[in-house]
Amino acid sequence: MEFQAFNLHPVIAASIKEAGYVTPTPIQKQAIPTVMLGRDVMGLAQTGTGKTAAFALPVLNRLMEGPRGRVRALVVAPTRELAEQIHESFITLGKQTKLKSITVYGGVNVNPQIQSLRSGVEIVVACPGRLLDHIGQGTIDLSHLEVLVLDEADQMFDMGFLPDIRRILGHIPAKRQTLLFSATMPPSINKLAHDILTDPVTVQVGNTAPPVTVSHALYPVEQHLKTALLLELLKHTDTDSVLIFTRTKHRAKRLGEQLEKAGYKAASLQGNLSQNRRQAALDGFRDGTYQILVATDIAARGIDVSQISHVVNYDIPDTPEAYVHRIGRTGRAAKSGDAFTMVCSEDSLMVRTIEKKLGAPLERRTVDGFDYTLPAPRKDAEFARPPREPRTSRKPADAKKSPGASINPFKTDHPGNKSAGRPQQGRPAVAGGAPKTVFNSSRRGK
Ligand code: AMP
Repeated sequence: MEFQAFNLHPVIAASIKEAGYVTPTPIQKQAIPTVMLGRDVMGLAQTGTGKTAAFALPVLNRLMEGPRGRVRALVVAPTRELAEQIHESFITLGKQTKLKSITVYGGVNVNPQIQSLRSGVEIVVACPGRLLDHIGQGTIDLSHLEVLVLDEADQMFDMGFLPDIRRILGHIPAKRQTLLFSATMPPSINKLAHDILTDPVTVQVGNTAPPVTVSHALYPVEQHLKTALLLELLKHTDTDSVLIFTRTKHRAKRLGEQLEKAGYKAASLQGNLSQNRRQAALDGFRDGTYQILVATDIAARGIDVSQISHVVNYDIPDTPEAYVHRIGRTGRAAKSGDAFTMVCSEDSLMVRTIEKKLGAPLERRTVDGFDYTLPAPRKDAEFARPPREPRTSRKPADAKKSPGASINPFKTDHPGNKSAGRPQQGRPAVAGGAPKTVFNSSRRGK
Protein backbone atom coordinates (compact mmCIF):
# COMPACT_ATOMS: atom_id res chain seq x y z
CA MET A 1 0.00 0.00 0.00
CA GLU A 2 1.25 3.45 -0.82
CA PHE A 3 0.21 6.95 0.23
CA GLN A 4 -1.73 7.54 -3.02
CA ALA A 5 -4.38 5.15 -1.72
CA PHE A 6 -5.51 7.77 0.80
CA ASN A 7 -6.40 10.22 -1.93
CA LEU A 8 -4.95 13.15 -0.04
CA HIS A 9 -4.93 16.62 -1.57
CA PRO A 10 -2.26 16.81 -4.34
CA VAL A 11 -0.18 19.46 -2.54
CA ILE A 12 -0.05 17.26 0.55
CA ALA A 13 0.81 14.20 -1.53
CA ALA A 14 3.67 16.21 -3.05
CA SER A 15 5.06 17.06 0.43
CA ILE A 16 4.86 13.41 1.50
CA LYS A 17 6.96 12.53 -1.51
CA GLU A 18 9.40 15.32 -0.76
CA ALA A 19 9.70 14.12 2.85
CA GLY A 20 10.78 10.76 1.43
CA TYR A 21 7.88 8.75 2.84
CA VAL A 22 6.99 5.93 0.48
CA THR A 23 4.95 3.45 2.48
CA PRO A 24 2.61 4.42 5.31
CA THR A 25 3.54 2.96 8.69
CA PRO A 26 0.99 0.61 10.33
CA ILE A 27 -0.48 3.37 12.52
CA GLN A 28 -0.79 5.63 9.47
CA LYS A 29 -2.55 2.86 7.51
CA GLN A 30 -5.11 2.54 10.27
CA ALA A 31 -5.52 6.12 11.39
CA ILE A 32 -5.42 8.22 8.21
CA PRO A 33 -8.59 6.85 6.52
CA THR A 34 -10.45 6.85 9.85
CA VAL A 35 -9.57 10.46 10.65
CA MET A 36 -10.45 11.44 7.09
CA LEU A 37 -13.93 10.04 7.68
CA GLY A 38 -14.29 12.52 10.54
CA ARG A 39 -14.35 9.85 13.25
CA ASP A 40 -12.93 10.30 16.74
CA VAL A 41 -9.83 8.17 17.26
CA MET A 42 -8.12 6.59 20.22
CA GLY A 43 -4.59 5.89 19.00
CA LEU A 44 -2.37 3.58 20.97
CA ALA A 45 1.08 4.19 19.62
CA GLN A 46 4.44 5.19 20.92
CA THR A 47 6.99 7.63 19.57
CA GLY A 48 8.78 6.26 16.54
CA THR A 49 5.77 4.64 14.91
CA GLY A 50 4.96 7.57 12.63
CA LYS A 51 2.02 8.66 14.79
CA THR A 52 2.61 12.39 14.20
CA ALA A 53 2.03 12.10 10.46
CA ALA A 54 -0.86 9.73 11.21
CA PHE A 55 -2.82 12.71 12.57
CA ALA A 56 -1.02 15.62 10.84
CA LEU A 57 -1.78 14.41 7.30
CA PRO A 58 -5.57 13.99 7.66
CA VAL A 59 -5.79 17.22 9.70
CA LEU A 60 -3.98 19.16 6.96
CA ASN A 61 -6.23 17.52 4.39
CA ARG A 62 -9.33 18.60 6.26
CA LEU A 63 -8.10 22.19 6.62
CA MET A 64 -7.52 22.53 2.86
CA GLU A 65 -11.21 23.23 2.58
CA GLY A 66 -12.95 25.86 4.66
CA PRO A 67 -12.02 29.27 6.04
CA ARG A 68 -8.48 30.45 6.64
CA GLY A 69 -7.06 32.74 9.33
CA ARG A 70 -8.79 31.18 12.34
CA VAL A 71 -7.68 28.43 14.69
CA ARG A 72 -9.31 25.25 13.38
CA ALA A 73 -6.95 22.55 14.72
CA LEU A 74 -5.38 22.40 18.16
CA VAL A 75 -2.75 19.86 19.18
CA VAL A 76 -1.92 19.65 22.88
CA ALA A 77 1.38 18.02 23.83
CA PRO A 78 3.18 17.57 27.16
CA THR A 79 6.56 19.16 26.38
CA ARG A 80 8.00 22.00 24.38
CA GLU A 81 10.24 19.62 22.45
CA LEU A 82 7.33 17.47 21.39
CA ALA A 83 5.31 20.56 20.48
CA GLU A 84 8.17 21.78 18.28
CA GLN A 85 8.50 18.37 16.68
CA ILE A 86 4.78 18.22 15.85
CA HIS A 87 4.86 21.78 14.53
CA GLU A 88 7.81 20.86 12.31
CA SER A 89 5.86 17.90 10.94
CA PHE A 90 2.98 20.22 10.05
CA ILE A 91 5.43 22.57 8.33
CA THR A 92 7.11 19.76 6.39
CA LEU A 93 3.94 17.95 5.36
CA GLY A 94 1.94 21.14 4.81
CA LYS A 95 4.68 22.99 2.95
CA GLN A 96 2.57 23.92 -0.08
CA THR A 97 -0.77 24.21 1.67
CA LYS A 98 -0.30 27.83 2.84
CA LEU A 99 -1.81 26.71 6.14
CA LYS A 100 -0.11 28.32 9.12
CA SER A 101 0.99 26.50 12.28
CA ILE A 102 2.42 28.00 15.46
CA THR A 103 3.69 26.65 18.77
CA VAL A 104 2.45 27.95 22.09
CA TYR A 105 4.43 27.03 25.21
CA GLY A 106 5.91 28.63 28.29
CA GLY A 107 9.49 29.64 29.03
CA VAL A 108 9.60 31.96 26.01
CA ASN A 109 8.32 35.46 25.32
CA VAL A 110 4.55 35.50 24.94
CA ASN A 111 4.39 38.50 22.59
CA PRO A 112 5.42 36.78 19.34
CA GLN A 113 2.78 34.13 20.10
CA ILE A 114 0.15 36.83 20.56
CA GLN A 115 1.21 38.51 17.31
CA SER A 116 1.05 35.25 15.36
CA LEU A 117 -2.36 34.47 16.81
CA ARG A 118 -3.57 37.94 15.85
CA SER A 119 -2.27 37.64 12.32
CA GLY A 120 -4.32 34.48 11.83
CA VAL A 121 -3.25 30.83 12.02
CA GLU A 122 -5.12 27.59 11.38
CA ILE A 123 -3.06 25.18 13.50
CA VAL A 124 -1.88 25.67 17.08
CA VAL A 125 0.46 23.17 18.75
CA ALA A 126 0.46 23.94 22.45
CA CYS A 127 1.55 22.86 25.90
CA PRO A 128 -1.30 23.10 28.42
CA GLY A 129 -0.02 25.84 30.78
CA ARG A 130 0.69 28.59 28.26
CA LEU A 131 -2.40 27.70 26.28
CA LEU A 132 -4.50 28.30 29.40
CA ASP A 133 -2.72 31.65 29.86
CA HIS A 134 -3.78 32.67 26.34
CA ILE A 135 -7.31 31.47 26.97
CA GLY A 136 -7.39 33.44 30.26
CA GLN A 137 -6.01 36.59 28.58
CA GLY A 138 -8.38 36.30 25.65
CA THR A 139 -5.43 36.22 23.23
CA ILE A 140 -6.60 33.03 21.50
CA ASP A 141 -9.97 32.42 19.89
CA LEU A 142 -10.86 28.74 19.91
CA SER A 143 -14.52 29.19 19.05
CA HIS A 144 -13.97 27.93 15.48
CA LEU A 145 -12.03 24.84 16.49
CA GLU A 146 -12.85 21.75 14.45
CA VAL A 147 -10.19 19.23 15.50
CA LEU A 148 -8.54 18.61 18.86
CA VAL A 149 -5.53 16.29 19.12
CA LEU A 150 -4.19 15.23 22.52
CA ASP A 151 -0.76 13.72 21.98
CA GLU A 152 1.10 11.55 24.49
CA ALA A 153 -1.86 11.70 26.84
CA ASP A 154 -0.28 9.28 29.31
CA GLN A 155 2.71 11.57 29.64
CA MET A 156 0.43 14.56 30.21
CA PHE A 157 -1.18 12.58 32.96
CA ASP A 158 2.23 11.68 34.46
CA MET A 159 3.17 15.35 34.43
CA GLY A 160 -0.04 16.35 36.21
CA PHE A 161 -1.65 18.08 33.22
CA LEU A 162 -5.03 16.32 33.24
CA PRO A 163 -6.82 19.07 35.23
CA ASP A 164 -5.44 21.60 32.71
CA ILE A 165 -6.68 19.46 29.83
CA ARG A 166 -10.15 19.32 31.31
CA ARG A 167 -10.08 23.10 31.76
CA ILE A 168 -9.07 23.56 28.11
CA LEU A 169 -11.94 21.29 27.05
CA GLY A 170 -14.33 23.74 28.71
CA HIS A 171 -13.21 26.45 26.28
CA ILE A 172 -13.55 24.68 22.94
CA PRO A 173 -16.62 23.76 20.93
CA ALA A 174 -18.29 20.53 22.01
CA LYS A 175 -18.96 19.71 18.37
CA ARG A 176 -15.53 18.77 17.11
CA GLN A 177 -13.41 15.83 16.04
CA THR A 178 -11.14 14.56 18.81
CA LEU A 179 -8.05 12.39 18.42
CA LEU A 180 -6.32 11.06 21.50
CA PHE A 181 -2.89 9.43 21.25
CA SER A 182 -1.19 7.61 24.07
CA ALA A 183 1.54 4.98 24.34
CA THR A 184 -0.17 3.31 27.26
CA MET A 185 -3.70 3.12 28.55
CA PRO A 186 -3.71 3.62 32.34
CA PRO A 187 -7.19 3.92 33.95
CA SER A 188 -7.00 7.74 34.06
CA ILE A 189 -6.52 7.92 30.28
CA ASN A 190 -9.22 5.35 29.72
CA LYS A 191 -11.58 7.56 31.69
CA LEU A 192 -10.51 10.69 29.82
CA ALA A 193 -11.04 8.88 26.50
CA HIS A 194 -14.45 7.75 27.64
CA ASP A 195 -15.37 11.31 28.64
CA ILE A 196 -14.17 13.20 25.60
CA LEU A 197 -14.36 10.86 22.60
CA THR A 198 -17.59 10.17 20.74
CA ASP A 199 -17.97 6.67 19.39
CA PRO A 200 -14.20 6.41 18.84
CA VAL A 201 -12.35 4.02 16.59
CA THR A 202 -9.34 2.52 18.37
CA VAL A 203 -6.19 2.19 16.32
CA GLN A 204 -3.29 0.42 17.84
CA VAL A 205 0.20 -0.67 16.95
CA GLY A 206 2.83 -2.59 18.77
CA ASN A 207 1.00 -2.98 22.06
CA THR A 208 3.83 -0.99 23.67
CA ALA A 209 6.38 -3.36 22.20
CA PRO A 210 9.61 -1.60 21.31
CA PRO A 211 10.46 -1.09 17.64
CA VAL A 212 11.60 -4.35 16.13
CA THR A 213 14.67 -2.76 14.69
CA VAL A 214 16.15 -2.12 18.13
CA SER A 215 18.50 -4.62 19.65
CA HIS A 216 18.65 -4.43 23.42
CA ALA A 217 21.24 -5.55 25.91
CA LEU A 218 21.84 -5.24 29.61
CA TYR A 219 25.26 -4.42 30.99
CA PRO A 220 25.47 -5.48 34.61
CA VAL A 221 27.90 -3.21 36.45
CA GLU A 222 28.43 -1.68 39.85
CA GLN A 223 27.18 1.86 40.29
CA HIS A 224 30.63 3.43 40.65
CA LEU A 225 31.88 1.84 37.42
CA LYS A 226 29.06 3.05 35.19
CA THR A 227 30.94 6.02 33.75
CA ALA A 228 34.08 3.97 33.13
CA LEU A 229 32.04 1.25 31.43
CA LEU A 230 30.19 3.81 29.37
CA LEU A 231 33.47 5.28 28.14
CA GLU A 232 34.67 1.78 27.26
CA LEU A 233 31.44 1.06 25.40
CA LEU A 234 31.66 4.32 23.47
CA LYS A 235 35.28 3.62 22.59
CA HIS A 236 34.37 0.28 21.04
CA THR A 237 31.12 1.22 19.37
CA ASP A 238 30.47 2.61 15.97
CA THR A 239 28.01 5.32 16.93
CA ASP A 240 26.36 8.10 14.96
CA SER A 241 24.67 9.86 17.80
CA VAL A 242 23.96 8.64 21.27
CA LEU A 243 21.15 9.58 23.61
CA ILE A 244 21.93 8.77 27.23
CA PHE A 245 19.30 8.71 29.96
CA THR A 246 19.94 9.43 33.61
CA ARG A 247 17.52 9.36 36.49
CA THR A 248 18.04 12.95 37.67
CA LYS A 249 18.90 16.35 36.26
CA HIS A 250 21.98 16.49 38.43
CA ARG A 251 23.26 13.20 37.07
CA ALA A 252 22.57 14.34 33.49
CA LYS A 253 24.58 17.51 34.00
CA ARG A 254 27.40 15.72 35.74
CA LEU A 255 27.66 12.93 33.18
CA GLY A 256 27.57 15.46 30.33
CA GLU A 257 30.55 17.21 31.91
CA GLN A 258 32.42 13.96 32.44
CA LEU A 259 31.93 12.97 28.81
CA GLU A 260 33.13 16.36 27.65
CA LYS A 261 36.20 15.99 29.83
CA ALA A 262 36.81 12.61 28.22
CA GLY A 263 36.90 14.35 24.84
CA TYR A 264 33.40 13.70 23.54
CA LYS A 265 31.22 16.34 21.99
CA ALA A 266 28.48 16.05 24.55
CA ALA A 267 25.65 18.21 25.89
CA SER A 268 23.13 17.64 28.61
CA LEU A 269 19.47 18.49 28.52
CA GLN A 270 17.76 19.02 31.80
CA GLY A 271 14.87 21.03 33.13
CA ASN A 272 17.04 23.71 34.73
CA LEU A 273 18.28 25.02 31.40
CA SER A 274 16.84 28.18 29.87
CA GLN A 275 14.78 27.62 26.74
CA ASN A 276 17.61 29.05 24.62
CA ARG A 277 20.16 26.63 26.02
CA ARG A 278 17.79 23.68 25.68
CA GLN A 279 17.20 24.59 22.07
CA ALA A 280 20.94 25.02 21.46
CA ALA A 281 21.60 21.57 22.94
CA LEU A 282 18.84 20.01 20.82
CA ASP A 283 19.88 21.79 17.64
CA GLY A 284 23.51 20.86 18.28
CA PHE A 285 22.55 17.22 18.71
CA ARG A 286 20.42 17.28 15.59
CA ASP A 287 23.06 18.88 13.38
CA GLY A 288 25.89 16.71 14.72
CA THR A 289 27.71 19.40 16.73
CA TYR A 290 27.11 17.13 19.71
CA GLN A 291 27.51 13.42 19.26
CA ILE A 292 26.09 12.67 22.67
CA LEU A 293 23.10 14.10 24.48
CA VAL A 294 22.51 13.26 28.13
CA ALA A 295 18.96 13.77 29.34
CA THR A 296 16.32 12.87 31.88
CA ASP A 297 13.06 11.25 30.78
CA ILE A 298 11.06 14.43 30.92
CA ALA A 299 13.69 16.53 29.15
CA ALA A 300 14.04 13.95 26.38
CA ARG A 301 10.37 13.32 25.83
CA GLY A 302 9.42 13.60 22.20
CA ILE A 303 12.91 14.25 20.88
CA ASP A 304 12.86 13.33 17.24
CA VAL A 305 16.39 12.75 16.16
CA SER A 306 16.15 10.32 13.33
CA GLN A 307 19.89 9.70 13.31
CA ILE A 308 20.07 8.30 16.85
CA SER A 309 22.07 5.11 16.58
CA HIS A 310 22.29 4.26 20.27
CA VAL A 311 20.27 4.79 23.38
CA VAL A 312 22.07 4.18 26.65
CA ASN A 313 20.17 3.85 29.88
CA TYR A 314 22.86 4.99 32.27
CA ASP A 315 20.17 4.51 34.91
CA ILE A 316 17.42 2.01 34.39
CA PRO A 317 14.00 3.67 33.99
CA ASP A 318 11.39 3.45 36.72
CA THR A 319 8.71 1.72 34.65
CA PRO A 320 8.65 -0.71 31.73
CA GLU A 321 6.67 1.90 29.76
CA ALA A 322 9.50 4.40 30.23
CA TYR A 323 11.93 1.74 28.95
CA VAL A 324 9.90 1.35 25.77
CA HIS A 325 9.63 5.13 25.38
CA ARG A 326 13.33 5.61 25.80
CA ILE A 327 14.45 3.01 23.36
CA GLY A 328 11.76 4.17 20.95
CA ARG A 329 14.18 7.04 20.30
CA THR A 330 16.41 4.69 18.35
CA GLY A 331 15.36 2.31 15.63
CA ARG A 332 12.85 4.93 14.53
CA ALA A 333 10.80 4.18 11.44
CA ALA A 334 13.01 2.19 9.12
CA LYS A 335 16.31 2.63 10.96
CA SER A 336 18.00 0.14 13.21
CA GLY A 337 19.49 1.00 16.55
CA ASP A 338 20.99 -0.36 19.72
CA ALA A 339 19.84 0.13 23.27
CA PHE A 340 22.21 -0.50 26.17
CA THR A 341 21.01 -0.55 29.73
CA MET A 342 23.38 -0.46 32.69
CA VAL A 343 22.04 -2.39 35.61
CA CYS A 344 23.08 -2.71 39.23
CA SER A 345 22.05 -5.26 41.79
CA GLU A 346 19.23 -3.05 43.08
CA ASP A 347 17.71 -2.95 39.58
CA SER A 348 16.98 -6.67 39.41
CA LEU A 349 13.29 -6.29 40.19
CA MET A 350 12.83 -3.66 37.48
CA VAL A 351 14.77 -5.82 35.01
CA ARG A 352 12.36 -8.67 35.64
CA THR A 353 9.37 -6.32 35.26
CA ILE A 354 10.69 -5.02 31.94
CA GLU A 355 11.39 -8.52 30.66
CA LYS A 356 7.92 -9.59 31.65
CA LYS A 357 6.47 -6.66 29.73
CA LEU A 358 8.59 -7.42 26.68
CA GLY A 359 7.75 -11.10 26.97
CA ALA A 360 11.37 -12.15 26.56
CA PRO A 361 14.59 -12.09 28.54
CA LEU A 362 17.07 -9.37 27.67
CA GLU A 363 20.54 -10.35 26.67
CA ARG A 364 23.26 -9.74 29.28
CA ARG A 365 26.60 -8.61 27.97
CA THR A 366 29.96 -7.81 29.42
CA VAL A 367 32.68 -5.74 27.83
CA ASP A 368 35.77 -7.76 27.21
CA GLY A 369 38.85 -6.37 28.88
CA PHE A 370 36.94 -4.08 31.22
CA ASP A 371 38.00 -4.40 34.85
CA TYR A 372 34.79 -5.03 36.73
CA THR A 373 36.69 -5.48 39.98
CA LEU A 374 37.82 -1.92 40.58
CA PRO A 375 36.67 -0.72 44.01
CA ALA A 376 34.69 2.46 44.38
CA PRO A 377 36.87 5.53 44.86
CA ARG A 378 35.70 7.64 47.79
CA LYS A 379 34.87 10.73 45.74
CA ASP A 380 32.39 8.76 43.68
CA ALA A 381 30.15 8.23 46.66
CA GLU A 382 28.66 11.65 46.01
CA PHE A 383 27.60 10.59 42.52
CA ALA A 384 26.38 7.19 43.52
CA ARG A 385 22.74 6.59 42.96
CA PRO A 386 20.91 6.48 46.26
CA PRO A 387 19.65 2.94 46.66
CA ARG A 388 15.90 2.44 46.44
CA GLU A 389 15.99 0.21 49.47
CA PRO A 390 18.48 -0.17 52.33
CA ARG A 391 21.52 -2.11 51.23
CA THR A 392 23.63 -4.23 53.47
CA SER A 393 27.03 -2.70 54.00
CA ARG A 394 29.86 -4.40 52.26
CA LYS A 395 33.57 -4.03 52.78
CA PRO A 396 35.55 -3.00 49.70
CA ALA A 397 37.76 -6.06 50.23
CA ASP A 398 34.76 -8.30 49.64
CA ALA A 399 34.05 -6.53 46.43
CA LYS A 400 37.56 -7.27 45.27
CA LYS A 401 37.36 -10.90 46.12
CA SER A 402 34.05 -11.61 44.50
CA PRO A 403 32.79 -8.68 42.48
CA GLY A 404 30.19 -10.63 40.62
CA ALA A 405 28.33 -11.56 43.74
CA SER A 406 27.79 -7.95 44.61
CA ILE A 407 27.33 -6.68 41.11
CA ASN A 408 24.47 -8.65 39.88
CA PRO A 409 22.71 -11.22 41.94
CA PHE A 410 20.03 -11.52 39.28
CA LYS A 411 17.83 -14.43 39.75
CA THR A 412 15.27 -14.55 37.06
CA ASP A 413 12.37 -16.84 36.46
CA HIS A 414 13.54 -17.57 32.98
CA PRO A 415 13.90 -21.19 32.15
CA GLY A 416 17.44 -22.19 31.40
CA ASN A 417 18.88 -19.79 33.91
CA LYS A 418 20.79 -22.41 35.75
CA SER A 419 23.77 -20.18 36.34
CA ALA A 420 21.83 -17.37 38.01
CA GLY A 421 23.40 -16.49 41.31
CA ARG A 422 26.63 -18.29 40.44
CA PRO A 423 28.75 -15.55 38.99
CA GLN A 424 32.00 -16.16 37.26
CA GLN A 425 35.00 -14.80 39.07
CA GLY A 426 35.72 -11.27 37.91
CA ARG A 427 32.59 -10.97 35.86
CA PRO A 428 29.10 -9.93 36.70
CA ALA A 429 26.62 -12.70 37.09
CA VAL A 430 23.99 -12.81 34.46
CA ALA A 431 20.57 -14.20 34.12
CA GLY A 432 19.36 -16.19 31.18
CA GLY A 433 22.58 -18.10 30.55
CA ALA A 434 26.16 -17.03 29.99
CA PRO A 435 26.76 -13.42 29.05
CA LYS A 436 28.23 -12.49 25.76
CA THR A 437 31.74 -11.64 26.77
CA VAL A 438 32.97 -9.99 23.65
CA PHE A 439 31.48 -6.64 22.92
CA ASN A 440 30.98 -6.78 19.24
CA SER A 441 31.17 -3.30 17.89
CA SER A 442 31.07 -4.31 14.28
CA ARG A 443 27.42 -5.21 14.20
CA ARG A 444 26.56 -1.76 12.94
CA GLY A 445 28.29 -0.65 9.84
CA LYS A 446 28.17 2.96 8.85
P1 AMP B 1 6.85 9.77 15.06
O1 AMP B 1 6.42 8.44 15.58
O2 AMP B 1 5.71 10.58 14.59
O3 AMP B 1 7.70 10.49 16.09
O4 AMP B 1 7.77 9.54 13.76
C1 AMP B 1 9.00 8.88 13.79
C2 AMP B 1 9.87 9.18 12.58
O5 AMP B 1 9.41 8.46 11.45
C3 AMP B 1 9.93 10.63 12.17
O6 AMP B 1 11.29 10.96 11.95
C4 AMP B 1 9.15 10.71 10.88
O7 AMP B 1 9.65 11.71 10.02
C5 AMP B 1 9.36 9.32 10.30
N1 AMP B 1 8.22 8.84 9.50
C6 AMP B 1 6.90 9.00 9.75
N2 AMP B 1 6.15 8.39 8.82
C7 AMP B 1 7.02 7.79 7.96
C8 AMP B 1 6.84 6.99 6.79
N3 AMP B 1 5.65 6.65 6.32
N4 AMP B 1 7.96 6.56 6.15
C9 AMP B 1 9.19 6.89 6.63
N5 AMP B 1 9.42 7.64 7.73
C10 AMP B 1 8.34 8.08 8.39
